[in-house]
Amino acid sequence: MRSLVLIGHGSHHHGDSASAVQQAAERLRGPVGTAPGRVQNCFDEVLEGYWQQEPGLRQVLRTVASSNVTVIPLFLAESYLTETVLPRELGLGHQGPVPPGGVARVLGGRRVRYTRPLGVHPGMADVIAARATEALPTGTDPGGVTLLLLTARPGTGTPEAHARALSERGLFADVKVVTLTEPGATEAGLSEWRAHLAAQVRTEAAVLVPFFAHAGGGWQAQLAQALAGPGLPRLHVSGPVGTHPGVADVLLQLAGEGGQEERGDVDQPHAEAWAALRELAERGGRLGEVLLTPHGGLFELRHMLDEGRAAADLRTFVSPEGLRDFTDRDEAGRHRPVRTWRTLPRGWRAVLGPADLRLGLHLLYPAVVEESYAHAHHNLHCTPWASTARRQTGALAKVQRATPDQVDTVAAQVCAPCLRTRLWAGEVLGQTFFSGVPGGLPCAEACSVLLSAVRDEVGAGTA
Ligand code: SF4
Repeated sequence: MRSLVLIGHGSHHHGDSASAVQQAAERLRGPVGTAPGRVQNCFDEVLEGYWQQEPGLRQVLRTVASSNVTVIPLFLAESYLTETVLPRELGLGHQGPVPPGGVARVLGGRRVRYTRPLGVHPGMADVIAARATEALPTGTDPGGVTLLLLTARPGTGTPEAHARALSERGLFADVKVVTLTEPGATEAGLSEWRAHLAAQVRTEAAVLVPFFAHAGGGWQAQLAQALAGPGLPRLHVSGPVGTHPGVADVLLQLAGEGGQEERGDVDQPHAEAWAALRELAERGGRLGEVLLTPHGGLFELRHMLDEGRAAADLRTFVSPEGLRDFTDRDEAGRHRPVRTWRTLPRGWRAVLGPADLRLGLHLLYPAVVEESYAHAHHNLHCTPWASTARRQTGALAKVQRATPDQVDTVAAQVCAPCLRTRLWAGEVLGQTFFSGVPGGLPCAEACSVLLSAVRDEVGAGTA
């Protein structure tokens, strides 16, 4: 058995930051590899993890079912994040550039291999070319078009390498790397930027391909503002490279760079946790705010406050991803970076087969089954605040200066809507939902939302 984990940035505020990882994971869970020329998918499961939302980096490896795990950062360039933060938070004990075959470690009985980020793989040149040609009107000869590869982060060398590879292929008349304007540039700055862009183009038409992971983060509005002015050649604009379907193939090529891997075993503690959950679901019961009911060989999930409502009055989902997309927002439409906040919207039901139940619950309440089962068996390792704070670097290193009172004050706000019990702060959780206490969910370590809030509190105090 083999597991693939795709890691994205995620966001505390915007759900669309996860879109590239979600789309790639969904494609890889589908029948990729069956079309001619596609890479065969050798993974039995594909999971998602994020730096800034759940499933978090500290949780995600607990949620995999096998002892052989490949982790791919779905980022477009090597950076401090991919070389320091992600390996550290995953517990890999690695820092610095990742070699082409990745770095492998044995963690908790699992063999975990962490690869280079998606964006540096040479196969991304194909994705860029596909984005560009798909954005051109039907029948356009790309040989008469300039491809402008747009980046917000010049100097990494990655878009430049893809531009060189594409130039050598000769498919487009010319290939250039251009940089996005500064956010909030003045009209004079925008006009200068447009002049710079126009100077790159010697053909009648050009196609601009954003070398971005996803469509969120505000860059589209920034780009639209920058392009809305005179002086540009005929310009076609494609979608971001990170959400192109071809990314799935590149991910599998990247995963294969570690050479022929032996298949792993089923991870026993994980299998036991899910067997216990399955028993609970077959009896019917509650997990957090969710009511689980057996339903003719399937399982129905719904908000506990919707108990007794007619199915026709609820929106029905039959896929884990549909359930995730709906419950990613609260009833006011706000993104839910912490899935165990008591902000789960009402008005839905999910009807899932036994094979989809695990993924559905993983996306609804990430790591809750594994962590609650481990806690119930006195096997959950908790990380006290001081240890979490001590390992933070970069902007988050400020949390090391937080006083216990500051941490308590911020946690009282951030954690107030959360179902979890803060074991990391010394709180005690007697029973979990496995023994009939629906809201009995452990929190083993301060989450990224709390860390950011403490950082802001410390920053505000020293401003
Ligand atoms: Fe919930 Fe607080 Fe734990 Fe974050 S730190 S998961 S908000 S209990």
